[in-house]
Amino acid sequence: MTIGIWVLGDRLSQQQTALKKYEGKKQEVAVILIESSNYARQRLYHRQKLVLVWSAMRHFAEELKQDGWQVTYAIAVDFITPLQEWIKAKKISELSLTEPSDRSFTEFVKSLELNCQLKLLPDNHFLWTKAEFQAWADQGKRLLMEDFYREGRKRFKILMAGKKPVGGKWNFDKQNRQPPKQSLTTPDPITFKPDTITHEVIDWVNAKEFSNYGEIEPFNWGVTRQQALQVLEHFITKCLTNFGAYQDAMITGERTMWHSLISPYLNLGLLEPAEVISAVEAAYYRQELPLNSVEGFIRQVLGWREYMNGIYHYMDANYGDRNWFEHHHSLPDFFWDANATNMNCLHQTLTQIEETGYAHHIQRLMVLSNFALIAGISPQEIENWFHSAFIDGYDWVMQTNVIGMGQFADGGVLASKPYAASANYINKMSDYCSDCSYNRSDRTGEKACPFNFFYWDFLSRHRDRLSSLGRMNLVLSHLKRMSSEELAQIQTQAETWWQQQK
Ligand code: FAD
Ligand code: SF4
Repeated sequence: MTIGIWVLGDRLSQQQTALKKYEGKKQEVAVILIESSNYARQRLYHRQKLVLVWSAMRHFAEELKQDGWQVTYAIAVDFITPLQEWIKAKKISELSLTEPSDRSFTEFVKSLELNCQLKLLPDNHFLWTKAEFQAWADQGKRLLMEDFYREGRKRFKILMAGKKPVGGKWNFDKQNRQPPKQSLTTPDPITFKPDTITHEVIDWVNAKEFSNYGEIEPFNWGVTRQQALQVLEHFITKCLTNFGAYQDAMITGERTMWHSLISPYLNLGLLEPAEVISAVEAAYYRQELPLNSVEGFIRQVLGWREYMNGIYHYMDANYGDRNWFEHHHSLPDFFWDANATNMNCLHQTLTQIEETGYAHHIQRLMVLSNFALIAGISPQEIENWFHSAFIDGYDWVMQTNVIGMGQFADGGVLASKPYAASANYINKMSDYCSDCSYNRSDRTGEKACPFNFFYWDFLSRHRDRLSSLGRMNLVLSHLKRMSSEELAQIQTQAETWWQQQK
């Protein structure tokens, strides 16, 4: 029997199950990696995302070759043609691959007509297996992230003092999420100069015009495991101390604050979640770092990331089609062109995404996604945009974060209330409003901030549905106190805004 291993673009790890299984038989096993231009043209992907994935794949192929694997690297229109040719040429009788992270790609792989057996090996790039998550989810009444996270802390013995959490509490959020101060000095992110391989990919993406979205250069992302490890080290030494306190703050021109920037590498397989958590925990004990920051960060990786992946596989395949609020507006054009909006918070965030493919969590949730939610944009349209525009976007992480967390389109599977907010929140957590042509305090009138009239219009449009969620009663009581004249004005202003988009 001749074994072939197909290494997918988001499984770039020597620890992945298929490579691990045959690491003692490198000479006898054939390995293939495939770039498919049809796949890349499925969406208007950010050009840096294409460069990142393909350059990381090409670097990983080189690493495998140097390590003694027999590697074929195919650049093709589709996946099936080079796969069939390689299977025939190498006389492969069993094609092994680590299970893809995205459900639709798994189905695609299973549907391929191959002249050999197909063997999917379990995905080992998350701490929880699908079966373990399912067992946890089936035993409880609620699918609360907080419960899941505490279970994870105990199961993997992270920041535990016996059976109790280190520091006596499970979370230190009261010390976290502070508004930005004027005098903050943030660390510069670590950047990497493109090498020959990356330059070749940049030229290829430019020449083939796969997409016109996003600046392709300067391209500063790491493309190898060594570089990903440097990003993690930089985060631990330069950013972790202040991570918690300013986790939610947004400052003009400060694009990365104290965030780690590791999501692209975790999602490609260049970093493993277990090693990230261990390194951060070890730094806490070694350097006596603030527990609020360390716990706050570990919660992101051990809690949120694992939980989102677990929910994605736990829910049915139609999860991504949900639309609890029945929102159907098309995505405004300015999402693809930051200069086409004069809402400063959106303009700043969209500009930085065009230039880097990255925005931090609160920019994603409380600026971009919040706007889409309160304005009534179709959850599927905004999900497609997020998936295209972000350097770290994949189906599993997009559906849960955008459809579930951001748009509440699942009706509350993973959030107990929608993340909807007016300009008040953005003004508290950023400096964007002070330089905006809209007035953050006005709900109606020529200078009224669209986040204000859309927010109140959203509450009014959906008051019946929202009142079924206990946690919305306080804000709905403010709505009740609003005069019918003001509400009518707000509604007209929201409708007029949409008419002007046409
Ligand atoms: P940090 O703030 O430094 O956090 C550390 C790590 O925690 C991240 O790298 C990530 O791996 C993990 N993490 C934290 N929150 C989440 C979460 N909600 N879901 C999954 N992982 C989490 N994350 C992606 O990896 N890809 C996406 O395409 C993506 N899209 C998002 C869209 C929306 C609307 C929202 C609200 C969140 C999205 N997230 C996504 C989650 C989160 O915003 C990013 O993981 C994070 O901003 C990445 O930047 P960082 O590495 O600097 O993160
Ligand atoms: Fe954004 Fe409104 Fe603030 Fe302008 S005033 S930055 S549109 S929240």
